[in-house]
Amino acid sequence: MPETTDTMAEPKPLKSTLNLPETSFAMKANLPVNEPLRLAVWQKQDLYAQIRAARAGSPKYILHDGPPYANGAIHLGHALNKCIKDFVVKTKTMAGFDAPYVPGWDCHGLPIEIKVDEQLGRKKLEMDPLAVRKACRDYAQKYVDLQRSQFERIGVFGRWNDPYLTMSYAYEASIIETFYDFFEKGFVYKGLKPVYWCIHDRTALAEAEVEYEMHTSPSIYVRYKLTSNPAQIDAALGNQPVWTIIWTTTPWTLPASLAVAFNPELDYVALRNADGNVYIVAEALAAQTREASNLTEATEIARFKGTRMDRVTFQHPFLDRSILGVNADYVTTEQGTGAVHTAPAHGADDFYTGAKYGLSQLCNVDAAGRLRNGLPEYEDLQVFKANPKIIDLLVAREALMGRSEIHHSYPHCWRCHNPVIFRATEQWFIGMETSMNTSPTPMTETEIAAAEELFNDPLDKSEPDEAPDAILNLKTGVLLTSDPERYQTTFRQRALREINNVVWDPSWGRERIYNMIETRPDWCISRQRIWGVPIAVFLCEKCHQPLNDRAINKSIVKLFHRQGADAWYKHDVSSLLPTGTACPYCGNAEFRKEMDILDVWFESGASWHAVLDVEPDLHTPADLYTEGGDQHRGWFHSSLLTSVGVRGTAPYKMVATSGWTLDEQGRAFSKSLGNGVDPVDIAKRLGGEIVRLWVASVDFREDVAASENLMQRVSDNYRKLRNTLRFLLSNLSDFSPSTDAVPFAILEPLDQYILARLAQLTTRIRSAYEDFEFHRAYHALNEFTNTDLSALYLDVLKDRLYTFAPNHPARRSAQTAVWRIAEALTRLIAPILSFTADEVWEHLPKVEGRETSVHVALFPEIATIIPGNTNTLLDNWQKLLEVRNEVLLSLEAARQSKLIGKGLDAKVVIEASEPVYPLLERYEPSLKELFNVSQVTLAHIEHREQKTVVTTLAAEGAKCARCWNYTTDVGDDPRYPTVCLRCAEALNAIGYPPYTASSEPQA
Ligand SMILES: [Zn+2]
Ligand SMILES: [Zn+2]
Ligand SMILES: [Zn+2]
Repeated sequence: MPETTDTMAEPKPLKSTLNLPETSFAMKANLPVNEPLRLAVWQKQDLYAQIRAARAGSPKYILHDGPPYANGAIHLGHALNKCIKDFVVKTKTMAGFDAPYVPGWDCHGLPIEIKVDEQLGRKKLEMDPLAVRKACRDYAQKYVDLQRSQFERIGVFGRWNDPYLTMSYAYEASIIETFYDFFEKGFVYKGLKPVYWCIHDRTALAEAEVEYEMHTSPSIYVRYKLTSNPAQIDAALGNQPVWTIIWTTTPWTLPASLAVAFNPELDYVALRNADGNVYIVAEALAAQTREASNLTEATEIARFKGTRMDRVTFQHPFLDRSILGVNADYVTTEQGTGAVHTAPAHGADDFYTGAKYGLSQLCNVDAAGRLRNGLPEYEDLQVFKANPKIIDLLVAREALMGRSEIHHSYPHCWRCHNPVIFRATEQWFIGMETSMNTSPTPMTETEIAAAEELFNDPLDKSEPDEAPDAILNLKTGVLLTSDPERYQTTFRQRALREINNVVWDPSWGRERIYNMIETRPDWCISRQRIWGVPIAVFLCEKCHQPLNDRAINKSIVKLFHRQGADAWYKHDVSSLLPTGTACPYCGNAEFRKEMDILDVWFESGASWHAVLDVEPDLHTPADLYTEGGDQHRGWFHSSLLTSVGVRGTAPYKMVATSGWTLDEQGRAFSKSLGNGVDPVDIAKRLGGEIVRLWVASVDFREDVAASENLMQRVSDNYRKLRNTLRFLLSNLSDFSPSTDAVPFAILEPLDQYILARLAQLTTRIRSAYEDFEFHRAYHALNEFTNTDLSALYLDVLKDRLYTFAPNHPARRSAQTAVWRIAEALTRLIAPILSFTADEVWEHLPKVEGRETSVHVALFPEIATIIPGNTNTLLDNWQKLLEVRNEVLLSLEAARQSKLIGKGLDAKVVIEASEPVYPLLERYEPSLKELFNVSQVTLAHIEHREQKTVVTTLAAEGAKCARCWNYTTDVGDDPRYPTVCLRCAEALNAIGYPPYTASSEPQA
């Protein structure tokens, strides 16, 4: 005990003897300033490397990053995507997995080339392709650097100093290696085919690059004069002028018109007009065609099937060309006339019909959409500008029967939003029906028996018993057969089968990608641009066949490794090919380089090979791909195809998708609405932590709402959570776990209870993390801090923490629980509130040998929180809390009637029967604290199950000047006459000088 001084100095006030909260953990987070400081520290410590080192040798968990496009600053969708990935990686890391995260960027492609075109202007025309590529590379690098700093700013951990870039030499080499794999196995062909074509960007577009928007087109009816013998169609038509009428919304395709298609199954009618002309149209469309073509007075003179129109001939309305009548079953009665003008160069159906009838597929529309080799009336005009000129021409040639306009859904380019056209061009394709040369899995005996069972209906005796050739195992998607030789899998079938081996979250993702793969046409992989990886194939100058030589292909891969894809532009054919190389088809020794580049989806789709296969830390298949829900047609799709083509299997085990970011009214963000939420701006004003917490608060599988208002609300939530953490820390300033921690068995019952609740929370949050249900973790956390901690535990605990002697076992018990809660919460929130958790970690009581950062640590183990099953404990406390609710109601009534002021002014009397009474009796010492009153008296009611009755009375005895509890022992210790015995004990323990009534200190 310290010596008492004999001076007459005023004794310290009693209040100063309380163990009041104390911490250097700031109340105000000041995230915009402090987060960048913490980032700098992490960088200096190389925290990512520390995490990697700590998990070395643990089981791997590979989330493979889908590369965002290196074009512009990040937006909220990017932030959502990267935070989800960061949550996955950090939760897996803290669950004990070795979960490296290698971020990547998609660097090639049209958007960058267009931006660079704009910057270079006319200069580009005089520039060497290598110089243009250099400008594109610099542009992409600039945005890689910008986005990297922005992703790091919002606390995303990863190998930022060494990301993967699709424009790196190694990656470019991997792309061409993947292409060669397809090429050498016979998947790739070059063919003339109508493809979507953007005349503005002068390139072919993939299906995924086309969007449907409204567009106004001319709608015209044009007559074609029959030149073959009309009597061969129907006797009634003999010796009369006969025509058919076609309908089109693309007059510019008429110069390419080679045929008119009729459905062989449909009925056609011949209508004779007053002027003697006879018109053949589909019966079902006759009424509307009469209306549109001013033929209302015409009379039907014959009716026949469309088969009669096969191989008749017509005269082109303005060109010196014979037009063939053809049969095609895609001709419908939905609109038009039932006679369909066919231009094989400008439509998919037209193309196949043309091929069937041996029509030319030549395209007279150039890359910029200008008509070539035509009449002076429209020569050189861009297709949409040619439309009115061609209509004028039709009028002049008396071929136009009717005209109007139509506002319809029309394909547009997703990049420039201009309407696109169908144009037959030479393109490179990967054939979806390419044979994979693999047999289905042979059936086991049991499977054969099951199949026989399935296919032999016992009631149907007409067919002899026979097992089917093959059945599809619907569960696994595996085709089983008793005769493997008979079945060859195509690329498409294999890809579909692989879809069934992947977990899709949400589950509708499976159907979406399945339908897309099932119906997609061959993959057009060529683009007519500069910024990308060239389809590095040599073409024979004489017979135009591609040279497909494994050794040469390998040498190009090696070259790309050293010099990047620039090498293709840098070197001429003679230095790339070994001397003496001859065309295997014609023996010619002259070759040229293919200058088309690969579709960028092929590039990013090959990342499983360029990144996962190559990096020693990573592996295929990845455990998870997660991107926006539009990637079923994008990256998930192209990754699946490249991986199935090369290795026969999917590159991922699981695919999770997120919804769109929308405003609170469910509208897309747009400049004109001014509803945008910029994650960089939020980080700057409110903190990166707020962006992260917002991401955790939403169910990313749905479309998610964001607004300034919602961000402020999340920010408020953050403040509450921070205050709770601060309160926990502030009560641990004199607690050292190694010397002060109390074993669970001898903790105060209330402390045991809150730890049992903490264990439940830990289980809930960990299972939510395992299911990537971060919003469930967020809500569980909020509920625990608001309901269990703020409204109950921490509120009633103050008396014990503040007024008991610092070393009192009951206070150490409280501190033990508070410490365990703080420890567990810090670890549990670390994946989401990465900055704050790390800050709290620094303020937690020091534990020998603990990790320097929470991010290197593991999630709390339940065994460190509770020793075993706590169900009985939780049940008991559930019942006590029900009694507490009764008590709170009674206290509130007493407060209303001015019987008491604070709870400590009260004594409560609880009359209870079985089974409540024995429980209350058992926990009697804890009740005063639980109800936060000065005294509790229990009374037993004999009748079982009778309702508990709570009565509030004024507390007995006197109010202690220090702890404000009413007790009957105030003044019992003469050394401290104004305080209760418990406080007297506390004062004595800290060496507080005794005083007398006359020298009474301030309370
Ligand atoms: Zn375009
Ligand atoms: Zn040749
Ligand atoms: Zn007291």
